[in-house]
Order: sequence, then C-alpha cells, then structure tokens
Amino acid sequence: MLFTCEQPEGQARDPGELERIIGQAYEAGRARTQTGTVASYIPELAKADGREFGICARNLAGETIAFGDTEKRFSIQSISKVLNLAAALTFLGVRGTFAHVRMEPTGDAFNSILKLDTVSDLPFNPMINAGAIQVMSLLSNIIDFEQLLCFARAFCMDEQIQLNEAVYHSEAETGDRNRAIVYLLKSKGVLQGDPDKTVDLYFRMCSLNVNARSLANMGLLLANGGVNPFTGQRMIQTDHVRILRSLMLTCGLYDESGAYGVWVGIPSKSGVGGGIMGSVTRQWGIGTYGPALNEKGNSAGGIAALRYMSQALGLNIFA
Ligand code: GLU
Repeated sequence: MLFTCEQPEGQARDPGELERIIGQAYEAGRARTQTGTVASYIPELAKADGREFGICARNLAGETIAFGDTEKRFSIQSISKVLNLAAALTFLGVRGTFAHVRMEPTGDAFNSILKLDTVSDLPFNPMINAGAIQVMSLLSNIIDFEQLLCFARAFCMDEQIQLNEAVYHSEAETGDRNRAIVYLLKSKGVLQGDPDKTVDLYFRMCSLNVNARSLANMGLLLANGGVNPFTGQRMIQTDHVRILRSLMLTCGLYDESGAYGVWVGIPSKSGVGGGIMGSVTRQWGIGTYGPALNEKGNSAGGIAALRYMSQALGLNIFA
C-alpha cells in the first residue's frame, strides 16, 4: 500500500468520476477568474496574470488530480499564517501561544487595526495580520527564518520552496500598515518580540514561493491528522491540527469566512497571492491558484472551484 493511513470513507471510488468532477470544478474556477482583479497594494503582486488558474487535489487513497496552472510558483501570503501558528503551537504549546492571541473571528478585513485599537489589546485571531504578527513575535525569540523555511518545506512536502526575493522586498518597502500593527501591539505592551525583527520574519513568510501542489500537500497533511501520509512521520500534534482547522474554518477567508463556511464548508486558508489551501478530514488536500481576487481579497476562481468540488463530492463538513 502506498500510504500508511486508512482508506477514506464515503467518497466516490471511480477515478474517472473524480477526474470528471474536479475537471468541472477547474472549469468553474477558471470562468470566475474573469470577475476578479490581481492584488496591487504589494506592487510585485500586480505583475501576476489574472487569467491563470489551477487546482490540485490529492486524497488519502493516493490519487492526485490536477488541472491548469498547478506548477506555477506564487507567494503563499496569508496561507503562511497557518504555518506560523503550527510552528508556535509546536514549539510553545497551546497555552504559550493563546496566552497572547485570541481565537475569535473579527468580521473585519485581514489588515484591519480597528478592533485591535478599540475592542481588545490582544489580536482577535492568528489568521488576520495582527494575530499573525503577534504569533510571529513569539516565534522571533526562538526560531530564525531558515528554520521556519525548513518547517514550511516539511509541512508542504516541498523542498523547492524558496523565498521570493522580489515579493519580499516589495512587501518590505510598502508594508507600512503591518509596521503600524506591530508598533500598535508594542505600544499596548503585548508584543512579545522585537518589532522590526518580527515584521521582517512576517514579510519573509508571506513571500515563500509555493504552488497549488504544495498547498494540496499542506491540506493533505492536516486531513491526515498531522501525519505525512507518504512517510508516516508525525509533523503536527493531533490537538494542534484541530485548532488549526477550526481557525481556518472560522477565520481563514478573511471577512468572507461565514459565507465560505456555508457554501463550501471546507476548512481553508486563502492568501492575496491567489492561493487557497483546503483540508477535508481523512479525505482531501486541495490547493488552488488563481491570482484574480474578489472584493474580499480571496481568489475568485479558487472559491468557485472549491465550492463546486465541495457540492459535487459532498465535502461540506456540515453536510
Ligand atoms: N503579506 C500580506 C499582508 O500582510 C498578506 C495578506 C494576505 O494574504 O491576506 O498584507
């Protein structure tokens, strides 16, 4: 047997059928790319081709089904927030992490400062910029970028992941809002590390070059309870996987997380580079790439493809 995990339950067995459905999901996603626009607030991201689209789906039965631009490298952006939180949970534990960041959705944009200044000194959750920066301040005391890069490569089962220097410099030059967040956290006395080092690490992690396959692998590892299905090696503790996937479901799609939960219902995380990573328990890891974003900053094509796939295969966790 190829994998060390159990066979998934309750999913279509005919590979031809799966290929047909995921092909249709790809077409649905590709058609939606026309409705979005690429991110431009980080100048380097504006160079992306909004017509590109790809989906890679891997399941625990050992099948990989991919359509479109699935080998194209792009910056992981906010999907790195899952990696950062996973690293914090691994190295600092649940209490050591959540003593400094909350677990609540905000209903605000990913880079909002509003609630941080008016409602709570601690950031609402680790999936928004303020929370991810706070988590990074914790990590900045115990781990450096090279170690985080190794962690990301292992999590995504992708040794080719590199820092995209152009995106990193572009972010560092224009990331004043994130610098505002880190200094606001410092002014409140809650930041746990050096502000400049923290935000630099945050920018670097946002600038990792992944592809749809690396994101599918990330989702697959989470779907498999934190164990790499190819090697049988445990990467993330089971209780940490539950935390990561819960926060992905409630907070992973910015202020579109509620609607995404209703229509798609797959714990997922998006990034403004155009990626979405989805994880279906004991079944699928799904990665999509489509840099044309909707008005909430989520990949227009990615949402459409994941919604199609979820509905056609009955993957909504509440279904
Ligand atoms: N690097 C981006 C920022 O901090 C990440 C945003 C995202 O993907 O949501 O603005």
